[in-house]
Amino acid sequence: MSMLGELLEKAYFSCPLTIQKIGINVYGYWQARNRFGGNFREILEELEDSQWWPPSELEELQNDLLRRIIEHAYWNVPYYRLVFDERGLKPADIKCKEDLCKLPFLTKEIINKNFSDLIARNFPRSHMVLHHTGGTTGRRLEFYLPEGLRWNINYANLYRFYRWASFDVGEKRVTIAGRFFTNHPPYWMINRAENQLLLSTHHLTSQTVDKYIEQIVKFSPKVIQGHPSAIAYLASRMEAFDITISVKAVLTTGEQLYADQREVIERRFQCKVFDGWGQGEAVGMAAECEVHEGYHIASEYGIVEVIQDEKLGSGVGEIVATSLHNYAMPFIRYKTGDLGALSENNCSCGRGLPLLSKIVGRIDDVITTPEGEAVLPVSFRTRFAKLAFLEQYQLIQESSNSYKLLVLNNGHIGFKEQEECLEILHYYLGPSADVSIELVAEIPRTPGAKQRLIVNKSRS
Ligand SMILES: [Zn+2]
Repeated sequence: MSMLGELLEKAYFSCPLTIQKIGINVYGYWQARNRFGGNFREILEELEDSQWWPPSELEELQNDLLRRIIEHAYWNVPYYRLVFDERGLKPADIKCKEDLCKLPFLTKEIINKNFSDLIARNFPRSHMVLHHTGGTTGRRLEFYLPEGLRWNINYANLYRFYRWASFDVGEKRVTIAGRFFTNHPPYWMINRAENQLLLSTHHLTSQTVDKYIEQIVKFSPKVIQGHPSAIAYLASRMEAFDITISVKAVLTTGEQLYADQREVIERRFQCKVFDGWGQGEAVGMAAECEVHEGYHIASEYGIVEVIQDEKLGSGVGEIVATSLHNYAMPFIRYKTGDLGALSENNCSCGRGLPLLSKIVGRIDDVITTPEGEAVLPVSFRTRFAKLAFLEQYQLIQESSNSYKLLVLNNGHIGFKEQEECLEILHYYLGPSADVSIELVAEIPRTPGAKQRLIVNKSRS
């Protein structure tokens, strides 16, 4: 964020609630104009059309966009000129997705180190937006996006996904996400520009959860969107009081969605969950369609590769993506830190967009056994989900052979229950793992208010 942005933010948070409400709505209208003005409608209509093209035609379009961005990077971006020269490559050597392996990966470290050499010399500064991500681990990355990508292209792609869940621009929705917009109770606000009730995950606790549910009922939204852990938390509370709120769809994103979370959300909101994947760096996007056979990759938006890792098995690896639209600061083969697998199948919905069969979490969330074997978070999760006494927990890997399970103390965790948890942990980590359990009053969240199932401290 710029200096001015930080000053404005400070000023905003020192204001009384009524002024903040006006502030959020002024910002909301500005934001809505950026999102849905300009070419938004045209791009959305184009995307609505191209999603039905046969895979070969989509590939052709993608390769055409790739060749353009490669040519641009070579002639206008000093970092990429060097990368090509060092390898004796010319733009003509990268004609299609399969040629991308000739180029190195782009990482957060490389971006930080080569920031100014990654900016395209011919791209007008006035049309670039400085954007940043906190990242789930709190590592902040700053980068430039073209205005068009930041707003119209991003939102047209998002709304194509949303329409699969039969949600469209302007319909009533509740958003439960990690954006800080208030520091006063009550922790919600209405953004009139988008007919949206904003609920803060930062303040979602056992003390506020019932008020949140009450607000949602009062607002009577068509859809709910936000981080799966927060929505699942609301749903499990609703389950305890046998409350249901009927909506058209729940749209989740920003964190790994686990099967048990999907189940409780679908039961309590009486609809399907549509999970989506994306990132602030705007390199790749994918989401579930109405038949839920995987995550359709937005081929017109970015190129997605999966760098398979034998240790993780079943085709799983880190998702690496190339933006087809970032002409301000080209992101080519950017390591997203997310893990997934590509699907061989076409979706039965008939769309030509290829599928990721699954997304399984962050690379930082992989736990290793004392013997060095990798264990995915989803393995623990599936077993722990069956323990009714376990409400919230977090597994921390402290070192190569020591692990700590934080468990929310809800008054139901005795010796026998702890033994059950330990047994599951030893099943995955092996008998030599040094495992302990700590009962806590609250499970810590990351700066982005995301809830992490796993924290691996042995990596850093
Ligand atoms: Zn489909």
